[in-house]
Amino acid sequence: MNSTFTALAPAVPAACMLSVIVPAYNEEEVLPIFHQRLVAALNGVTELQGSFEVVYVNDGSKDGTLRILQELAMHDASIGVANLSRNFGKEAAMSAGLKLARGAAVILIDADLQDPPELIGEMVRTWQLGADVVNMKRVSRDGETWFKKASAAWFYKVINWLSEVHIPENVGDFRLLSRRAVDALNQLPESNRFMKGLFAWIGYKQVLVEYARHPRAAGQTKWPYVKLLNFAVEGITGFSVVPLRLASYAGFLTAFSAFVYALFLLVKTLTIGDSVKGFPTLILTILILGGLQLMAMGIIGEYLGRLFKESKRRPLFLLDDYKPPQAMIADLARSPSPAVAANA
Ligand code: UDP
Ligand code: MG
Repeated sequence: MNSTFTALAPAVPAACMLSVIVPAYNEEEVLPIFHQRLVAALNGVTELQGSFEVVYVNDGSKDGTLRILQELAMHDASIGVANLSRNFGKEAAMSAGLKLARGAAVILIDADLQDPPELIGEMVRTWQLGADVVNMKRVSRDGETWFKKASAAWFYKVINWLSEVHIPENVGDFRLLSRRAVDALNQLPESNRFMKGLFAWIGYKQVLVEYARHPRAAGQTKWPYVKLLNFAVEGITGFSVVPLRLASYAGFLTAFSAFVYALFLLVKTLTIGDSVKGFPTLILTILILGGLQLMAMGIIGEYLGRLFKESKRRPLFLLDDYKPPQAMIADLARSPSPAVAANA
């Protein structure tokens, strides 16, 4: 499958068939149940024949998430645990996972059981039929507020109207990526990690699979509305320059009408004369123009800020530590427990 893909990334031999990447931020409540269900699901996929790894990325959690992950890894040779140096956000945590995963295919899944692990079998089969990206589309979003659903719908409308690549609606980050798709993503240098846009941008054979999204099993959402709004702006400005153009059109249009109006006023004053009657018009003009100018400046600032961020060329995340699968078990065996010491 990788033979035609040499332009961007050197082919890395896959160490296992499937890597499952799980970003986790303050998920101590749900992780034990999640892992149990995930492993049960993975073992149920006969196509995998047990050849999988689970890469957990602890995104600077403030609760016991890391400890729970380390404990799980001590008893399960398929778990790798990455620990980021602080909370970098889900997009960065996923990027970290994508860099560390060694599977021939990779699945991104949330830790809160909103993305059912039981769908992995279907995703793997779709991949084996030749798909590079298997997008999981939510047909229902139980347990989410009316406002969140409505704003999500609007977000997809706006971004698809503006952006040059089509971003499938109601497809979250739950998806499967083939090795060449992962390699392509890993090569993208930008630090604006609007992943939904990047997944669409890489192209290749994309397949849509529908599923019902469940409410969170435990714990709390990490996306307050302000963060979601920032995320939306990030997505739109990262994948479209149309707002920049809109600002110039609006500015041009207003300036042009103002000029025509000024001519009209001039002629009127010269022929009929004028008292101080024009005050409302004056103040209105000032306000409208001021508003438009601010808007245009804001939009330019948005892109400028993005450029500034890119120009720093900072890494997307810093890894504190990564213990690949089996590392913890090996550590345990090496530690001089009495039994081991006696045998030596
Ligand atoms: N997450 C993360 N870093 C963050 C926020 C969230 O790694 O800064 C993870 C979180 O642990 C979960 C996934 O991203 O596995 C989705 O988060 P959440 O369920 O809060 O988002 P929602 O489903 O409400 O959109
Ligand atoms: Mg969630």
